[in-house]
Amino acid sequence: MSSTPAPLALVNVTLEYPDGDGTVRALDAVDLSVHGGQMVSLVGPSGSGKSSLLAVAATLIRPTHGLVLIDGTDATGLGDKDLAVLRREKVGLIFQQPNLLASLSAAEQLVIGDHLRGRPAKAARAKAAEMLDVVGLAPSADKRPHQLSGGQRQRVNIARALMGEPKVLLVDEPTAALDHERSESIVRLLRRITDEFRVATVMVTHDTEFVPLTDSVATMRDGRLAAPVPAAGTGDFPSLSAP
Ligand code: ADP
Ligand code: MG
Repeated sequence: MSSTPAPLALVNVTLEYPDGDGTVRALDAVDLSVHGGQMVSLVGPSGSGKSSLLAVAATLIRPTHGLVLIDGTDATGLGDKDLAVLRREKVGLIFQQPNLLASLSAAEQLVIGDHLRGRPAKAARAKAAEMLDVVGLAPSADKRPHQLSGGQRQRVNIARALMGEPKVLLVDEPTAALDHERSESIVRLLRRITDEFRVATVMVTHDTEFVPLTDSVATMRDGRLAAPVPAAGTGDFPSLSAP
């Protein structure tokens, strides 16, 4: 056993949203631990709490009870300022909609928020070039969003999430707006990034087709998370080593 802490661990996490006079329990005693290089698929019906789980894991929402450990640090014990730093340095977030700024080039999308990390501008530009290369977009570094395809825009989004060299990658329905072929290449890219950078990745997905590309699948229902099971054999999918 390694003594390194899992980059992401949720311990007995409960989240209640205010709801009229009462509350709605979006997460109910959730436990989840993801180690570096592991990619977990998170599935479950709409409204079961998947996005809430990601928001809590991203430290965007504080849980009502329980612990959120990011790279060994309990985020629930931090103030807002320290939380923002932890998030910036350890967590990469990727949502369905890339949310790129229309007037900026691909490279500029990556650099624009990076000054908060205190990286000098020149180093930020070098890092952006490196990350665009990782996602296969080096030749498109100067293109603006409207000059890119939907899949390419999602790749920019992914590259941007990698700028801070995160330990944890949280991905919500990354392929919902893409066709089959582009969806598969995005999931394969996330798989490769998980392996190459040894990040702990949780990917919410509504279709189970790409689940076999991940290591394990965890199912949510009514805010409760069933223990993850191995994803291998959950479908008929070409081997990862295939070209
Ligand atoms: P999923 O991503 O699986 O569709 P969500 O995490 O979005 O599920 O939602 C889980 C539950 O929490 C649902 O009952 C939803 O209506 C409720 N919920 C989500 N966000 C909020 C919010 N900001 N305020 C109140 N209730 C919310
Ligand atoms: Mg959701």
